[in-house]
Amino acid sequence: MDKNFIVQAVRGMNDVLPAQIAGWQQLERVTRELFAAYGFEEMRVPLVEHTALFKRAIGEYTDIVEKEMYTFTDSGGDSLTLRPEGTAGVVRAAITNGLLRGARLKLWTSGPMFRHERPQKGRYRQFHQIDVEAIGFAGPDIDAELIALTARLWRTLGITRVKLKINSLGTIESRRVYREKLVTYFRQHEAALDADSLRRLEGNPLRILDSKNPDMQAVVSGAPLLTDHLDAESREHFDSLCAMLTGMGIEYVIDPRLVRGLDYYSRTVFEWVTDALGAQDAICSGGRYDGLIPQLGGDPTPAIGFAMGVERVVELLSQTGAPLAPAAPDVYVMASGERAQRTALALVERLRDDLPQVTLHVNLGSGNFKAQFRRADKSGAALALILGDAELERGVAALKPLRHEAGQTECPLEELAVRIPAILADLAEPNNAV
Ligand code: ATP
Ligand code: MG
Repeated sequence: MDKNFIVQAVRGMNDVLPAQIAGWQQLERVTRELFAAYGFEEMRVPLVEHTALFKRAIGEYTDIVEKEMYTFTDSGGDSLTLRPEGTAGVVRAAITNGLLRGARLKLWTSGPMFRHERPQKGRYRQFHQIDVEAIGFAGPDIDAELIALTARLWRTLGITRVKLKINSLGTIESRRVYREKLVTYFRQHEAALDADSLRRLEGNPLRILDSKNPDMQAVVSGAPLLTDHLDAESREHFDSLCAMLTGMGIEYVIDPRLVRGLDYYSRTVFEWVTDALGAQDAICSGGRYDGLIPQLGGDPTPAIGFAMGVERVVELLSQTGAPLAPAAPDVYVMASGERAQRTALALVERLRDDLPQVTLHVNLGSGNFKAQFRRADKSGAALALILGDAELERGVAALKPLRHEAGQTECPLEELAVRIPAILADLAEPNNAV
């Protein structure tokens, strides 16, 4: 194999192979069911939007807009960007499709996101998010419901090593007051700031609190706390949220330094973290973004949402030890000889009509029975259905349990639709297992 000749995948963009798909499908199935149960509707938006949307929504001084976006000019001269997150597109769609108009929207969406970051375990350039957005709700009750939904999701998936962090960023106005205090503090400590933080001091000093540079931790931990500068309404909102979480039995930690990487948040922010994934410890993050919709040209509408990192949750899921093996077929159908193969294909289609709940895999290509038995075994099927010339002559098929001691039996072709479910039910009895 000539490595130079093979076109490799783009760095940080992964294939999900069949052996890995079970966790993805389980997460997709469970979230789909939970969202429906909580009254959220699915919506799908484009992977590409005008660059201006993300600049305006996420903010110029964020990591994403400063250095992580995949931006290109198309042949018509438009500056377009592969979406780095889901909220901006969903909000844009709600505005441009006229969905707002005082409505209350409970929406979810999912799919790939693109950020030009340094690839490492749990951090990729194409990654996937499941996003939930609740638009038109002002009170802390929806904040609490979103958090309860995520807590239920972890329980349903059997994920236990997670912790909830919450904080309030206050209103845009109270943040402005706090921001000035922060700038004053950081100016006094300019010598301790790294280059990124110096740059943010002008544009977005709150983001300095989010710095991942260990050398910055001392100066960051001495900074004034946003929680001490909350306006009265935000304080009340946050206190009710805390009381609601306690009422629902959801444990949380108030983290006054949780500011989140995106500009558009106000009041409630939260993040689920885990100690099971190493450095990339955030699996689900969200918050209230009451100011975003007017900023994108819509009527002022309160909203809150969160995004889950699918790769990270799937990795956690694989650590729970729950069996995620791809589903084996119930029956593996073998045939030898041209006539028997033809008969087998027709027979299997009839059985699929008659027994929609039974999965049948048919041996494709020829091969002697020994090779076919090997494939049958590998498929994980419970039962083999064998059609040879001798059986065909007599209008019967042989049935042989593959994972039990029970011997081979014969069954007239026209009785298979009755016998197969009966045998499968029998084989499923735990005390019949080998
Ligand atoms: P981080 O601090 O890890 O960079 P973030 O604040 O940039 O996270 P968000 O924009 O809030 O993350 O995205 C929500 C979730 O998406 C994160 O909690 C994480 O699980 C996941 N996520 C974000 N960036 C990546 C990435 N590059 N690769 C894989 N998952 C990611
Ligand atoms: Mg990031």
